[in-house]
Amino acid sequence: MSTTQPQHRSVIDAITAPRDSRVAFSVEFMPPRDDAAEQRMWDAASTFHDLGAAFASVTYGAGGTTRERTGRIARRLSQHPLTTLVHLTLVEHSAAQLESILKDYASLGLTNLLALRGDPPGDPLGEWVPTEGGLNYAIDLIRLTKSIEECRDFTIGVASFPEGHYRAENLEADTHWTLEKLRAGAEFSITQMFFDVEHFLRLRDRLAAADPVHGVKPVIPGLMPITSLRSARRQVELSGSSLPSSLERRLRSAKTDEHVRAVGIEVTSEMAERLIDEGVEDLHFMTMNFARATQEVLHNLGMAPKWQAAA
Ligand code: FAD
Repeated sequence: MSTTQPQHRSVIDAITAPRDSRVAFSVEFMPPRDDAAEQRMWDAASTFHDLGAAFASVTYGAGGTTRERTGRIARRLSQHPLTTLVHLTLVEHSAAQLESILKDYASLGLTNLLALRGDPPGDPLGEWVPTEGGLNYAIDLIRLTKSIEECRDFTIGVASFPEGHYRAENLEADTHWTLEKLRAGAEFSITQMFFDVEHFLRLRDRLAAADPVHGVKPVIPGLMPITSLRSARRQVELSGSSLPSSLERRLRSAKTDEHVRAVGIEVTSEMAERLIDEGVEDLHFMTMNFARATQEVLHNLGMAPKWQAAA
């Protein structure tokens, strides 16, 4: 088990580098809201660094403070050192503001970008209303990034949706628009969380069948370790994905919160095993800034020591 991982500039290099472990893994952080939450996040970042995470991503929220917080957290993570992927969305930004943020990222050495439209503020599944003077689709952000001299060498990733984006006409249209983002210069995609591996495999097949050049770029599965039925239901509601009834029954059959958690970790580990068998390049964990659940899954995969609570 590696304790330190060499640093790689791009996410693609980071996930394809030769390694001792069975597969690469990466983690998503959200900019914390207060000092205590921030300390917890740095503790989790240290744990993941020591476990050899290929990269860490930092989400971008709506609202004025996110610009500063996402950039600051991503910068510090990259100095940790962890290869860092910084998210950016179109929400409440004009094209000029987006250009200025992209230049900031370049000046901070943050050259791995997840280009996103973002969810409407307030209701994530609500109607999309573009900002005046802003952009409309993630592909516009890819094109903007490519047009800026300082950002030309960015490694760009995008979101993809195993069950289709909730606003897409159908799966075919959604596959088409995902491919367009890959053709416009994105080098990989990270999926929305899903709880049925078949949805992920079908997305990967659709992309590869539709375009043997761009459709075969890495599709990184987004995994949310299940720790409670309530949080799984909530995540499903917010993300527009679905919870298979067999999984819901399995979680409901557990009698105590602790047992539900154990079943949830077991289910996520089984999904990860199947994804490794299916040849994914990387497992991307949505950590909610906690290390424990992800480490427990990695332990089940033989990729991490058993979780020990801090003394
Ligand atoms: P787009 O690619 O722009 O697609 C939006 C919709 O329009 C889709 O229905 C698509 O099929 C369609 N479409 C795309 N291009 C075109 C076109 N040219 N013409 C017509 N239709 C088109 N949200 C945040 O706010 N912050 C985050 O940090 C964040 N991180 C995320 C990370 C991951 C891995 C994922 C999967 C999602 C994340 N999201 C985040 C949520 C994401 O922003 C939303 O799901 C959003 O609704 C869609 O973003 P997108 O980039 O896929 O949009």
